[in-house]
Amino acid sequence: MLKTIAGLATAAAILVSPAYADKAEHRQLGPHVHGQGTLDIAIEGNKVEMELVAPGMDIVGFEHIPSTDAQKAAVEKAKAKLTDVLSVFKLPAAAKCKADAANVESRKETHKPGEKDPDEAEESLPGHEHSEFHATYTITCAAPESLTGLETVYFTNFAGAQLLNVNVTTSKGQTQAQMTRAKPTLDLTGVM
Ligand SMILES: [Zn+2]
Repeated sequence: MLKTIAGLATAAAILVSPAYADKAEHRQLGPHVHGQGTLDIAIEGNKVEMELVAPGMDIVGFEHIPSTDAQKAAVEKAKAKLTDVLSVFKLPAAAKCKADAANVESRKETHKPGEKDPDEAEESLPGHEHSEFHATYTITCAAPESLTGLETVYFTNFAGAQLLNVNVTTSKGQTQAQMTRAKPTLDLTGVM
């Protein structure tokens, strides 16, 4: 009997764990990791929706509320760069893409009630704040079949950024990939 219960508990744990890990990874609920951002790309028909979430540390090198003129200027400059999405994330010219909308904001890192607070995890840094840049984009591509890949100057533009975890959703399903300072490219041939 005990054996059966243990077996059931194990089975339940196996069923629950991957879903939980998946959720945490995709929704960015935990404290962010400096150097790492997330880029979600959803391609449907000729529409490309992108969402970027990146620690302030990656983009401007600080996460407190900008107080000096230089800090305020750095935030505005970063927002302007990120707004020009097709300059940061270059899609193949043959796909004939244009940006319809871009929204970039800097915000305090958000957590759901009950989530572990990053301040608790960093008690050695009392009062340490986290903030991040959040950008959403809508792009239309006249020839989406030519969306074979993506190349980014994100790492050139933003000195603190090391890695982007990329989630791509297309009619063929979901895939995950990484772009890094050493490999600032993404291959989309398998998912289009
Ligand atoms: Zn942070």
